[in-house]
Amino acid sequence: MTETQILHNYSAGGWQGSSSGETLPVTNPASGQVLARVPLSTPEEVDRVAQSAQASFSAWRHTPATARIQYLFRLKDLLEEHFEELSRTITLENGKTLEESRGEIRRAIENVEVACGIPTLMLGDFSEDVARGIDEYMIRQPVGVSAIICPFNFPGMIPFWYMPYALACGNPVIVKPSERTPLTMQRVFELLDGLKLPAGVVNLVNGGAETVDALLDHPVIRAVTFVGSTAVARHIYSRASANGKRVQAQGGAKNPLIILPDADVQMTTSIVADSAFGNAGQRCLAASLAVTVGEADRIFVPALAEAAAGRVVGDGLVDGVQMGPVISAQSRERILGLIQAGIEEGGRAVVDGRASGVAGYENGYFLRPTLLRDIPAGGRIARTEIFGPVLGMMHVDTVDQAIELVNSGEYGNMACLFTRSGAAARKFRYEAQAGNIGVNIGVAAPMAFFPFSGWKNSFFGALHAQGKHAVEFFTQTKVVVERWLDDWSRKF
Ligand code: NAD
Repeated sequence: MTETQILHNYSAGGWQGSSSGETLPVTNPASGQVLARVPLSTPEEVDRVAQSAQASFSAWRHTPATARIQYLFRLKDLLEEHFEELSRTITLENGKTLEESRGEIRRAIENVEVACGIPTLMLGDFSEDVARGIDEYMIRQPVGVSAIICPFNFPGMIPFWYMPYALACGNPVIVKPSERTPLTMQRVFELLDGLKLPAGVVNLVNGGAETVDALLDHPVIRAVTFVGSTAVARHIYSRASANGKRVQAQGGAKNPLIILPDADVQMTTSIVADSAFGNAGQRCLAASLAVTVGEADRIFVPALAEAAAGRVVGDGLVDGVQMGPVISAQSRERILGLIQAGIEEGGRAVVDGRASGVAGYENGYFLRPTLLRDIPAGGRIARTEIFGPVLGMMHVDTVDQAIELVNSGEYGNMACLFTRSGAAARKFRYEAQAGNIGVNIGVAAPMAFFPFSGWKNSFFGALHAQGKHAVEFFTQTKVVVERWLDDWSRKF
């Protein structure tokens, strides 16, 4: 990529330049260097992409599922072959460490593997003799052109929460990457181009809010998936469903953890620090609030402070770096403002990551981990999604109080508990109001064969990403009731 390179869209089986004339820089957050420019595609360009997708639908639908998945087997091979290169691209445009990028691509590949099981996953149901001589069955048919709208923080994985399932089920797809991290999908589409899928089955459209709205309004698009912030998720969900589309929208998060005094100190400290500061806190499953119960406060505040202060911050491409920069200067400013607000409302900075330059990377968007203790319940730090390397800590006396705190939040993406007590773990699993639960796990990310189950303001819709939910989302059921008579001359 070069600074002057303008990214292309992909549709009708080939690459197209955008004629919008409006572009944004794609920046390496570790260095501030411009890597390329991304076009903000116009509604007319979205229309051309959508029409090309629609034109491919009938033939793709008629292609047997067993033949459709042959492309996915080859895609898996290509992703494995280009594993390191794709991981490096993620680190370059997003800032996370190379190890984190490798984990991300591994998750993408796992979704391709699961979708290869579509001949079984898409099976229907059959019931013989629902009445005398009458049988009834349910078949799954593809829903139609599907749009996949993505956030900046997992540019390699999140499109794969959907794309392999949509394709395997017989739908053409249109992927809209984040305008902040569009390079990984650019490369993935170069690989897809090599698969020689029928023209129009896979499409890439770059752009921002106006491009997204054109997708939400386009009549041939039948299904929309979205992952991003809650405010935008709400907008996507209401606009796309008002237009009669099937839609699921995963939103933001504020993930609490509860630490009980009996939790294993070394394991819990390491896991909680990874959850809070991994990906520079820019994970929708990042721990953002740690609630210590009883004696746990005395043990875990110093242990977590040591882990936070000792984390190696720098360019994610450099060996030994444990935390990269945040995505942009604007994001850095927003996080600094939130840390200040947290201190003003009574939080104490046990570790203060605000003075945070990295030598040789003066133009990078670096912060170091921050640990704020005694943050007030109901305050800004306790309630706001920070999406940066900041862990707020609170202290309560009982497990019940801790669960009540967890359940008082507006989000429900993830909640975790650290303990050796099976009884406490069971109570927590039963009562916690979040869709992804971790017990002695800090990033409770469901494997590809389980749904990514956000609740409350972290999710709008019914069916989630990945696995069987994705198969249901990308297919519509048709129920057939049939009567066949042995003797058509017999009086009915
Ligand atoms: P974002 O909401 O700013 O952007 C996401 C997508 O929406 C982008 O493609 C962007 O172009 C588009 N968009 C932005 N504003 C829009 C508007 N006004 N109208 C139409 N489209 C618009 O999110 P982000 O900053 O890229 O990603 C971070 C957010 O994503 C965090 O809140 C994080 O929690 C969330 N996230 C959630 C999950 C989950 O599974 N729940 C996973 C990853 C990230």
